[in-house]
Amino acid sequence: MPRERSPLCLLGDLLPEADTLLEQLRMTAPGLHQFGLTGDLRRRTELVRGSVELIASADAPAPVLEAFTGALGVVEVLQREHARCTVRMGDDMRVSLRVLPEEDFAPVLHALTGSKAHLARLHALARQQGLHLSHRGLRRSQGSRLPIPDEATLYRLLGMQYIPPELREDTGEIEAALAGRLPEDLVSLEHIQGAVHAHSTWSDGRNSLEEMARSARSLGLRYLTITEHSQSAIYAGGLKVDALRRQWEEIDRLNATLPGIRLLKGIEVDILESGALDYPDSVLEQLEVVIGSIHVRHGLDEERMTRRVLQAMENPHFHILGHPTGRLLQSRAPYPLRMEAVLDKAAERGVAVEVNGNPQRLDLKDQHVRQAVQRGVRLVMSCDAHDVVGLGNLRYAVATARRGWTRREDVLNTLTADSFVSALREPRVS
Ligand SMILES: [Zn+2]
Ligand SMILES: [Zn+2]
Repeated sequence: MPRERSPLCLLGDLLPEADTLLEQLRMTAPGLHQFGLTGDLRRRTELVRGSVELIASADAPAPVLEAFTGALGVVEVLQREHARCTVRMGDDMRVSLRVLPEEDFAPVLHALTGSKAHLARLHALARQQGLHLSHRGLRRSQGSRLPIPDEATLYRLLGMQYIPPELREDTGEIEAALAGRLPEDLVSLEHIQGAVHAHSTWSDGRNSLEEMARSARSLGLRYLTITEHSQSAIYAGGLKVDALRRQWEEIDRLNATLPGIRLLKGIEVDILESGALDYPDSVLEQLEVVIGSIHVRHGLDEERMTRRVLQAMENPHFHILGHPTGRLLQSRAPYPLRMEAVLDKAAERGVAVEVNGNPQRLDLKDQHVRQAVQRGVRLVMSCDAHDVVGLGNLRYAVATARRGWTRREDVLNTLTADSFVSALREPRVS
């Protein structure tokens, strides 16, 4: 059967589906050993090909393929061979599963994960060392095969640090790994203590503050930053100052009655066209977390847009720059902005920058994250949740941050609530 070219999908559309399928396999497939995602999905690229390739190792392929074709959500079996099967899920999602003997799992996982550029560099490097690297693993030139029980072994045999999948893009990770300079403490979801950037029914969110708080707590988070829209954002239920004060009363009440989770009083304040913020300083200074974002007047040219953002960051109460380029993947281009100037300013002023985990935004994107980290800019992992499900966006923020080589220490919401708030308020260089 000819291979169709599949469309690009958002990471956030495919990853949960693929995870659910893997979880079903784990629960139901007899004799299953290892299993996992491959390709773009495993590297967590912002857009992924709409066909998912899974691999597994097992005692025997047939019972695993049986469990796969019988999984919930499988609509049609498109192709089935001895150790491989392709199915259709939903309208157009193609998922294939290959079942391998144990000794082939790690080399095939590595080969299917890519990227092409990363693999090409590794192949060349192996050749220089008299080795041959392929999906069958590493062979010496005289033909003997080196056992590869896991990917870490493969990188070690090539004389370098282990390279996590999110970094395998040939953007310097191979040189760094050879020199032992790859960061070993990349941020991970388990490091995140609190979620930043959440809306509730007070502005344009769909769940109450209490529902958001309970849900964040059930995810194991210790705090949640409530950041509604500000007064000019009429289209998004932006809050006048008196409404904001009433919200603080509700937050105080919830904090007094709900153990195990703390709501932080914040705002997503509009950066107006002039670069001024949409509340007076007397209001902003009372908030624990101030995210400044652009929501209207996207059409300015690069110079004016850059000046607008730089001006906003001069405000002493400006803590975090929200979704810095305003892009929406597959629907809205980023607005023109001199990102390097913005990141320089953030580093100089001690302003944090958000990695927005809404799968359509992922803003900062991975390359910009890396530029930020190189400058010592402090980052926050943000969910931009408009309902309880949106709290799960944190994982996409973390994935994007990892692709930008972010370490745990670069991320402010790895701190406790008190330390997080005081880190945001550290005195600014003026
Ligand atoms: Zn926003
Ligand atoms: Zn928002």
